Amino acid sequence: LYLDQPLAPGQALALDEAQANYLFNVMRLGKDAVVKVFNGRDGEWLARVEHAAKRSGILRAEALSAPLVAPPDLWLIFAPIKKARCDFIVEKAVELGVARLLPVQTRYTNERFREDKAQAHAIEAAEQCEATFVPPVDDLRPLERVLKDWDPARRILWADEGLQGQAALLQASPGPWAVLIGPEGGFAPEERERLRSLPFVTPVSLGPRILRADTAAVAALTLWQANLGD
Ligand code: SAM
Repeated sequence: LYLDQPLAPGQALALDEAQANYLFNVMRLGKDAVVKVFNGRDGEWLARVEHAAKRSGILRAEALSAPLVAPPDLWLIFAPIKKARCDFIVEKAVELGVARLLPVQTRYTNERFREDKAQAHAIEAAEQCEATFVPPVDDLRPLERVLKDWDPARRILWADEGLQGQAALLQASPGPWAVLIGPEGGFAPEERERLRSLPFVTPVSLGPRILRADTAAVAALTLWQANLGD
């Protein structure tokens, strides 16, 4: 169960209506039952049900059951695409292990983006794959703004169709990285020119076919993990 509250020994954890409904009505747990809880920061904890009501409840954190396992220091920069496929990107990024999600508005980005929905989806994905860490989802920002504020110590693996080879990645530095994936319509000529001009950007091909953005995200994250991950 995800709770956005600090977890420490003896900590009382108040449940909201949805959480109480899930534990006491759906899962049919009662007083003294033990529940696994996590908040994406403090690892996974065992908590005992101290008070169970229809619309509320109190748990008491008892002991750490699994420490926080931090993901590799890899970020994913992506242009929002249609809702279901964007959810897919968030879900697979959590499963594959990323430390931060940065949605960006590019010239050909047409889809709306809801940070709160994406964050909720990241939490669900973490619950599903028993990850103790939940990557934060940034507010949507223009790609240019993100590039302007970028710390050049973190390299960007820029996936773009029409590029050749992965040689640059194979010889790349092991420092922190971010993967960059474009929207349905790809990157605009001026965006390509800008990215090509930046010394911390490494272009990469994911093969001779044009992948859908969600496939490209999974392929690029996997490529990075295989070459530079733990
Ligand atoms: N129209 C399709 C869609 O609806 O998803 C294709 C989208 S493709 C232009 C989206 C992004 O995926 C690109 O901006 C790029 O980041 C990445 N991508 C797709 N195919 C790729 C390839 N062969 N090599 C590298 N990146 C690729």
